[in-house]
Amino acid sequence: MKVMKFGGSSVGSAEAIARVLELVARQQQEGNSLALVCSAMSGVTDGLLRMLAAAVAGQPVQEELNQLQNRHYAVVRELLEVKRHNPALLSLKIYFNELEALFAGIQALGEVSARTSDRVLSYGELCSNVLMAHLVDQQCGRGVFADARQLIKTNAQYGKALVNPGLSRQLIRSFFLQHAGSIPVITGFIAATEGGDTTTLGRGGSDYTAALIGAAIEAEEIQIWTDVDGFMTADPRLVKKAFSLDQLSYNEAIELSYFGAKVIYPPTMLPAIDKGIPIRIKNTFNPACAGTLIGPTSGTGGSLIRGISSIAEISLLNVQGSGMVGQAGFSGRLFSALARKEVNVVLITQASSEHSITFAIRPQDVAPARQAIEGEFEFELLSGKLDAPQLQEGCSIVAAVGENMKQARGLAGKLFSALGRSGVNIIAIAQGSSELNISLVIRQEDLRKALNSVHDSLFLSPVKTLHVFCCGTGTIG
Ligand code: ASP
Ligand code: MG
Repeated sequence: MKVMKFGGSSVGSAEAIARVLELVARQQQEGNSLALVCSAMSGVTDGLLRMLAAAVAGQPVQEELNQLQNRHYAVVRELLEVKRHNPALLSLKIYFNELEALFAGIQALGEVSARTSDRVLSYGELCSNVLMAHLVDQQCGRGVFADARQLIKTNAQYGKALVNPGLSRQLIRSFFLQHAGSIPVITGFIAATEGGDTTTLGRGGSDYTAALIGAAIEAEEIQIWTDVDGFMTADPRLVKKAFSLDQLSYNEAIELSYFGAKVIYPPTMLPAIDKGIPIRIKNTFNPACAGTLIGPTSGTGGSLIRGISSIAEISLLNVQGSGMVGQAGFSGRLFSALARKEVNVVLITQASSEHSITFAIRPQDVAPARQAIEGEFEFELLSGKLDAPQLQEGCSIVAAVGENMKQARGLAGKLFSALGRSGVNIIAIAQGSSELNISLVIRQEDLRKALNSVHDSLFLSPVKTLHVFCCGTGTIG
């Protein structure tokens, strides 16, 4: 059994959905039994959130609601045969009536609870999947709509509920047993409490749904169909020569995503990782591209560094002073104080002289971090044992990620000399002893240059592109 998950852009229009149906039919012809998990049509969740805000403010939402309804109806008219129109339109109409009633209630109250907000958001996935179930049934036969609220049970932490894995697994398995031989089309993103209240799994939660389903039925593969060619060696907006990676280990994918590769959200993979189920990232709009296969082991061949990732905006704080040398518990106090202010520390370096600790945080965390330090070390600061924290803004992090880096010598050297040759100054360096990732802090204005030079030196042959200019007067050629 393969689980195919289609993201918002893959089900965003009749044209995109027609491609999806072809992909599903092809998999079926190859003899695979299938289950689908779909997101809401692209932009629908954001649209519903906007409408929620408008309704709270007492503004009308009817027009936007009609547009939403028409977007779904248009797909029915364009892709479903006439005899199937009525049942499909009817199920959609019921959902839109319910939404209308919910919005009326919110307008009347002028407020919305997290619980009601989840109810409203669930209609994005309900509508797209009901539609997809009718279409899959027409295309391949035996499509059945599955409302994940009956399959995935969570606590009542609305907006980002925590799943009860044991109970959900049991419910999913018995659903699949009952519907053996059909193609379930399952709503991504949404779930319910044991009492039946609708919850959601957090933004982008459909990947998580796919992983939960895949793990419960022990699928042979989970396919994430999206609108990019998979994980890339670097951000293609910054590095023109970036190309897609054919294979990654789970750990590499997690590291790359952490540093900004927005292909999948790593915690969503955990159920699949636990079971060792391969995850294949594919592009709905370029199915010929192999995409990226993520599994227990990293690919062999190619560069030992699988990808270069970056975080564009980072601030560095440096804490130093004579009072720190040899002080057990100093870093414990520092990072606990930061944690109490909910400052997320992205990277840490400490020289073995213990004279200074440097850490990287997001720019919005600078003020709370300062407060945390000033509060915790008031007396050390007053007595001069600790200098006032130094802030360096406008930095970026470049991270080289690869599971096989640990066996290799000289990779760090290669990295540093590439940067040195391009005149990029390295401000701080961190490498965990897992050796999965080497992270460098550089100035933000050097980011593009740094990424490109590191990418060239690691992934491309030593042949360098040079620009040659001839100048002179007359026919210089
Ligand atoms: N529709 C939800 C969102 O946009 C869930 C998903 O797309 O995975 O966040
Ligand atoms: Mg989405």
